[in-house]
Amino acid sequence: MPLPASWGLEKTLAEIADAGQFRQLRLLEGGQGARVTIDGRTLLNFSSNDYLGLAAHPAVGKALKTAVDIYGVGSGASHLVCGHTSAHAALEDALARLTGRSRVLLYSTGYMANLGVASALLSRQDVLLQDKLNHASLLDAAAISGAKLVRYRHADMQHLEERLAALAPSEQRVLVSSDSVFSMDGDVPDLNALASCTAQAGAALQLDDAHGLGVLGEQGGGACEAYGLDEAAVPVLMGTFGKALGTAGAFVAGSEQLIETLIQKSRTFMYTTAMPPALAAATSQSIELLQSEGWRRPHLQQLIAGFRKKVSALGLDLMPSDTAIQPLLVGEASAAVNLSKSLLDKGFLVVAIRPPTVPAGQSRLRITLSAAHDENDVDQLVQALAELVGR
Ligand code: PMP
Repeated sequence: MPLPASWGLEKTLAEIADAGQFRQLRLLEGGQGARVTIDGRTLLNFSSNDYLGLAAHPAVGKALKTAVDIYGVGSGASHLVCGHTSAHAALEDALARLTGRSRVLLYSTGYMANLGVASALLSRQDVLLQDKLNHASLLDAAAISGAKLVRYRHADMQHLEERLAALAPSEQRVLVSSDSVFSMDGDVPDLNALASCTAQAGAALQLDDAHGLGVLGEQGGGACEAYGLDEAAVPVLMGTFGKALGTAGAFVAGSEQLIETLIQKSRTFMYTTAMPPALAAATSQSIELLQSEGWRRPHLQQLIAGFRKKVSALGLDLMPSDTAIQPLLVGEASAAVNLSKSLLDKGFLVVAIRPPTVPAGQSRLRITLSAAHDENDVDQLVQALAELVGR
């Protein structure tokens, strides 16, 4: 039985299509890497968040397989019932060392981690201050927590200060949440200013380091390592495993009390199945690779610098970003989609990002670089961009 016509799904879908926002899944016929296969064609991949090229790393795969022999596949239950294994605990310890935090708690996804933080810490009388371009999961976290959501202009610390100053004294808890590296823009706000003006106002800071962990910092400890932000400056640190670490899942790091509170009160931790232990073991292996294959970070940085230089020599403006996310602003959604299609024809996977993910008129190609690429891969993309849009 289809859903009743009165639900209007046909009309909704038509409206999405009319707005040029219809999305389609693409089917990959193999694994992640600098090259992927779609419809039997090998494409150079500039769309993945696998920034360090660990998603298909043999050592990570081996750690996963070895752990399956020990732990089996499924965790069988939530962490608090009987799903928490020594593999999960070892990963939490490794993350605490990597981030320099007192304690870490695993979540099955970053989306759930962000929902879990806000819903455990905040309620209706509290305030959540957020950057306008924060990831959807942070914005959704505000809704689920019931806290009052106040947004400040993207990366605008003066506006944040004004917002903080304007809060009523009765508002009990104030949490400022921000992406460290913005997922669709690749830029990093002035994190030291963010931390200091949050602290001065007596508020607490949550950073979502999904795109910084593994990539930023000498040791790959993320944005907090890179900018010297300790647990006092960023009491709530969130990171994910599905990007630079090449696996899946997420964590929150902070004080003993924060983690205990999340264990007691965070519904997206309490009422969901623990991630498979083998995935935790694979992620621990990725963390080891951050040190043992430390060349991946400088190699990626070199590719980023070379790419920006070559693209600007074409007279094209990449958005301001020093990270692996190098968006090329196009404007209209249809133009971005057409450019993405032309690149596909030439053998490149570069996905167009449109509203509602980005504001109207700011559709873009979200080009991502990876340590899995070599200079020749990047040169091929630059050449293709020169042919399609070079001035
Ligand atoms: N935060 C940011 C900034 C992200 O980019 C993402 C993933 N796109 C998430 C959170 C969600 O993480 P996950 O994919 O693990 O749910």
